[in-house]
Amino acid sequence: MPHDAVVVGAGPNGLAAAVTLARAGLDVVVLERASEVGGGARTAEVTIPGYQHDICSAVHPMALASPFFQAFGLEERIEFAVPEISYVQPLDAGRAGVAYRDLERTADALGRDGAAWRRLMAPLVRHIDGVQDFTGSQLLRMPRDPVTALRFGLRVLEQGSPAWNVRFRDEVAPAMLSGVNAHSIGRMPSLSTAGAGLVLGAHAHARGWPVPIGGSARIVEALADDLIAHGGRIETESEVRALSDLPEARAVLFDVSARAFARIGAPALPDRYRRALEGFRYGGGVAKLDFALSEPVPWANADARATPTLHLGGTRAELAHAEDQVARGVHPESPYVLASQPTVVDASRAPEGGHVLWAYCHVPNGSTEDMSERVIRQIERFAPGFRDTVLATRHVSAAELGVYNPNYVGGDISAGAVTLPQLVRRPVLTTDPWRAPAPGLYLCSSSTPPGTAVHGLSGFYAARSALRHEFGLPVPSLAP
Ligand SMILES: Cc1cc2nc3c(=O)[nH]c(=O)nc-3n(C[C@H](O)[C@H](O)[C@H](O)COP(=O)(O)OP(=O)(O)OC[C@H]3O[C@@H](n4cnc5c(N)ncnc54)[C@H](O)[C@@H]3O)c2cc1C
Repeated sequence: MPHDAVVVGAGPNGLAAAVTLARAGLDVVVLERASEVGGGARTAEVTIPGYQHDICSAVHPMALASPFFQAFGLEERIEFAVPEISYVQPLDAGRAGVAYRDLERTADALGRDGAAWRRLMAPLVRHIDGVQDFTGSQLLRMPRDPVTALRFGLRVLEQGSPAWNVRFRDEVAPAMLSGVNAHSIGRMPSLSTAGAGLVLGAHAHARGWPVPIGGSARIVEALADDLIAHGGRIETESEVRALSDLPEARAVLFDVSARAFARIGAPALPDRYRRALEGFRYGGGVAKLDFALSEPVPWANADARATPTLHLGGTRAELAHAEDQVARGVHPESPYVLASQPTVVDASRAPEGGHVLWAYCHVPNGSTEDMSERVIRQIERFAPGFRDTVLATRHVSAAELGVYNPNYVGGDISAGAVTLPQLVRRPVLTTDPWRAPAPGLYLCSSSTPPGTAVHGLSGFYAARSALRHEFGLPVPSLAP
């Protein structure tokens, strides 16, 4: 019996697509190459037994903000810790920029730059659903809240240009913004990093930057459980290398990167479309580190000890220099490091008294370099004595990350460089970028809008398109 739909890849987007299709009453099977589901949202004991580490994603502002997960009732299905402090940007001598969930408190703590921060963020935070609508799908489409989209665009133009310091007088607020901008990996200032930074920065003062109790795996487990409850099936250790590996189905949705889709779908894809996919560029990579610790990280700044998320690397100028080096193919001596210490809010991740620290730094695509020492030095700079708390360390190079999950080509965690052209055409410029110009074939990974992060939206949009075009069905209820 042919299936209604096959989904290739059980990452958050593949599972979001599968849940949406199964909830519409379709017969769905998911084929996953790894031995377990989850893609970029897995949690495992990779250092010492009892210490639970998020292998890829760790902090989930985009999951809380996602209309897909809101409809799915994710917050009713799993527990999140939403901290009072969304993130901290430590600076030398124990100083730090602190992004409280409360915008006013953040502005008050920023002194001379408080009013400038408030003016930058307040319209976005007040209209966060308008920001989410504008940035959470294709960029080239009429936004539902054009005034907020315009305000957002003007701020991106400012923060993405050499005029990015014009509103600030001290170094703390610009360092905070750059720490968030750098999430998207790329030269700063630039429009793409500024856009990503302003979205994440606004969410920090809106719904917050949550951490799932028990780890990121809980998010995909909720999806997989719902899929199975609605008749779907998941087959692990089932890699799809060619269309001929697929069982018969009316629709096939691929949670794979754009170039992998070009390879696998080659016989069915028109030449022009396939060439466009082959021209899709990958960006800088990350080298990932997991630490098992005997005690909390001894941050010099007290607020840094209270937040799960920190951006390390110092001032705006230092961060821009590090990111510029990566873009030029150089491994920075003082890299940008994104750190997450979930045990500050979730004691379940380690045996009593123990802690885990998750960290990655940016490196050139395909890097095989061991960045452990440079990352540890960057942490020690703001947390003297850190080295003495380390019980065990695990390092995964950018190249190894690409082997662990082929969507992260060369360690590019976004499955495609986050540049302005690739935000506009991701992977091609059409009104329905999830639907391939070939019967029944769809792309649903973060190589499609809205791009990287655990939001399930790429999968949901692809499934919505398939429901409409292949089955003539409406989007079903996703509620628990
Ligand atoms: C180190 C790291 C840190 C991150 N941190 C965060 C964070 O804190 N917050 C956040 O929101 N996001 C974060 N991300 C990004 C986030 O994990 C991804 O954007 C997200 O997982 C993308 O979901 P996806 O379903 O598109 O792809 P993936 O999660 O990559 O899943 C793709 C799945 O498809 C499978 N697959 C691929 N090819 C085939 C094939 N041919 N046949 C069968 N199966 C196949 C893979 O094995 C994988 O399971 C991080 C990523 C990494 C790597």
